Amino acid sequence: MSLPSYDDAARRAHALEADELLSLLGASPHGLSPELAAERLRLQGPNVLPRARPPSLARLFLHQFASPLIYLLLAAAVVSLLIGEWSDAAFIAGVLLINAVVGTIQEYSAQRAAEALRNLVTPRCRVLRGGDTYEIASEELVAGDIVLLESGDRVPADIRLLDAYELSVDESLLSGESRAAAKGAGPPLALECVPADRGNMLFAGTLVEHGRGRGVVSATGASTELGAIATAVLGGPPAPSPLLLRMHAFSRRIALLVAVAVALMMVVALARGMSLEAIFFSAVALAVSVIPEGLIVALTVALAIGMRRMARRHVIVRRLLAVEALGSCTYIATDKTGTLTLNQLSVRKLFFPGVEGEFDEDLLVPLCRTAILANEGFIGHRDGDWVHQGDAVDVALLLLARESGLVKAEQEQTYPELAAIPFESERQFSASLNVDGDRTMAHVKGALERLLPMCERMVSAQGLVPLDAKRLEAEAERMASRGFRVLALASGSITLEEGEVFSEEHLGGLTLLGLVGMIDPLRPEAKQALAACRSAGVELAMITGDHPLTALAIARELGMAEDEGQIVTGRQLREAQGDEAERLIAGARVFARVEPRQKVEVVQALQRRGHFVAVSGDGANDAPAMRAAQVGIAMGRGGTDVARETADLIITDDNIASIVAGVEEGRVAYANVRKVTFLLISTGAAELVLFILALISGLPLPLLAVQLLWLNLVTNGIQDVALAFEPAEGDELKRPPRSPHEPIFDRLMLERVLVSALVIGAFAFVLFRAMLAAGFDVEEARNATLLLMVLFENVQVFNSRSESRSLLRHSPLRNPLLLFGTVAAQLIHIGALY
Ligand code: ADP
Ligand code: MG
Repeated sequence: MSLPSYDDAARRAHALEADELLSLLGASPHGLSPELAAERLRLQGPNVLPRARPPSLARLFLHQFASPLIYLLLAAAVVSLLIGEWSDAAFIAGVLLINAVVGTIQEYSAQRAAEALRNLVTPRCRVLRGGDTYEIASEELVAGDIVLLESGDRVPADIRLLDAYELSVDESLLSGESRAAAKGAGPPLALECVPADRGNMLFAGTLVEHGRGRGVVSATGASTELGAIATAVLGGPPAPSPLLLRMHAFSRRIALLVAVAVALMMVVALARGMSLEAIFFSAVALAVSVIPEGLIVALTVALAIGMRRMARRHVIVRRLLAVEALGSCTYIATDKTGTLTLNQLSVRKLFFPGVEGEFDEDLLVPLCRTAILANEGFIGHRDGDWVHQGDAVDVALLLLARESGLVKAEQEQTYPELAAIPFESERQFSASLNVDGDRTMAHVKGALERLLPMCERMVSAQGLVPLDAKRLEAEAERMASRGFRVLALASGSITLEEGEVFSEEHLGGLTLLGLVGMIDPLRPEAKQALAACRSAGVELAMITGDHPLTALAIARELGMAEDEGQIVTGRQLREAQGDEAERLIAGARVFARVEPRQKVEVVQALQRRGHFVAVSGDGANDAPAMRAAQVGIAMGRGGTDVARETADLIITDDNIASIVAGVEEGRVAYANVRKVTFLLISTGAAELVLFILALISGLPLPLLAVQLLWLNLVTNGIQDVALAFEPAEGDELKRPPRSPHEPIFDRLMLERVLVSALVIGAFAFVLFRAMLAAGFDVEEARNATLLLMVLFENVQVFNSRSESRSLLRHSPLRNPLLLFGTVAAQLIHIGALY
């Protein structure tokens, strides 16, 4: 098979009959053979989009000079050259160079970090190859592969549908249209039909919002519709965090203030008759020292370090904003299954009305048959290993059936499937329609409340008897209150009219076959994580689609809730009048049997009460709630593509303990942001105080331009970034969350800046003045003042390390980079003095 026919297939996929397309692609409905797929992968290359290349090192380096401050300094260097001050010019050039090199390295490593994070989440997809389903990396997909899709998946390539069930897709990435588009395996369309109207095609990069689908890959990688526009859509820089935006605005304001102050000082100095040249250089130098131009870089580094530390603790940050936001969240609404529990379900209890002890074969077999026919999971041997795929509930049921000797593949041969209603959280059941001799049988499994209205009879010790809903409900509650996840199973023969689509309406007159109770063990770390959360002043609630009593039993075991008053059900929320819902939500610890869309309501109500909410989710239908919350958290393992791509954070091990670790690291990162800010602002302010005092009292400039630049370099140059590396102080999770509305320059910060600036500036001024009065010449007085300032500011670095504890109580060895940087700076300075 030659490559050009793939291009032809890609162009005409929507305009061909399915079997024409399959033969054009050399494919079959059972999938390519693994060997053929490997061969094609070699020929066509991986299914990846062309990516915008990151800027080169040289570009990054040049970029460092693009700032008004740097232009000023360059001008100063040129002026120095013109008037023959070689050493000044060389020094300024040296400082600029060092500055640019440090900046380049920092930006480059930030870029690399972003790149590495992107690679942590590799998309995967399900394909049919040689009749078996495999989960493969989407990169390995080739033209002709048969792909299986379900709600929450990102479409991995351009695909012509072969069949679909209630399939709708969000194509906003391609078309800008935000409403979901319905898709189906329709007849061929006109060749000139535009992509937005191709109802029988799915396009790479779009998201499956609902339903299931199966189709053949017609184009991969750069040949897809998305590939054609990829460079326009992808590769944009990540949005800066709101904190960084605020700090940008803040440093612009400081720059303006400094400009005014410097202008005033220049006027005063001119009036005093100082030389224009000296005034110019001092003004530039003062501007450089006081304007915290390192602030943004250091803050970016602090946030990036936070990201890296979080990644080490299984938290991947997708938006920088989340680093600071997670630290200030006051409420975490978490999933139950998989986050608080292990999502390793096993069936521990079966119930048939009136039957005690051992079960009869003729009770067990029909139950198991239904359990595996209405089932989308897979267990089996492959390449010498046991593998399982699909929902944990489905897998648990397949295992139960296998113990009783029923194997899915065999059952499906005897009872071929005609149609299915797949499980979706809001539906709470799944069903299949199978041939059984000359009848068609429906098999249903799901929540008991949903199945009861479908049933007329039930099996019991006395054989088939009329349905006794009370009895079944009582037993289901008994099992649920012991922490079991309860599922009911039912089956019955139904008839469909010719051409009718199998749906919920047909499910009536069935026989209830029994109940199963499954146990999902708690995560061993969960209890401790919840306790840590409580002491950190963060409230925690569970949101689940499960039965209220199951949820309460688990919440009790975890110490999250005590009594039924703390459970709110989806139904209560639906029926609540006026502000009743708000009141219910405020008092709830457990939200049970809630539909995914009700999560949005819960999040919004909490926000109205002043909470800063983090919400976790895994399904496509959780995305709205994750967007509504301040922090959306997706599960890396159990979560769908949609959830992962909506989230601000991804928890790679799905563990509640990792969320709590994220809160801790978020707080550390924010504290470091404050430390860096404090250092840079307070030292700049101290220099300003020194100059103002000197000018007011009619003394000469206390430091020369070069000296100010030098001071800046040895006291802030490495230290600000080193502060961004500060480890946790250890009590991060013992404090209440800070208010998300609180500005960085709160009262504490202002007081500390003012006090330290006044102390340092005044001391330096007193020294300068005393030395002049004692008859030293200006040169010597300046040298001494500089030495004092370097000392003071280096002490200030250590003083910046904690807002609550004094520098003496804080071991300097805990941040070796900081210690090393500061000692080196002192030594360099003393060396330079000589
Ligand atoms: P959770 O919030 O714990 O993930 P789900 O929405 O997955 O809750 O499940 C809600 C209810 O739907 C369960 O209590 C169960 O009765 C039913 N259910 C869960 N998984 C399946 C499945 N794979 N097939 C049929 N019914 C299911
Ligand atoms: Mg679930």
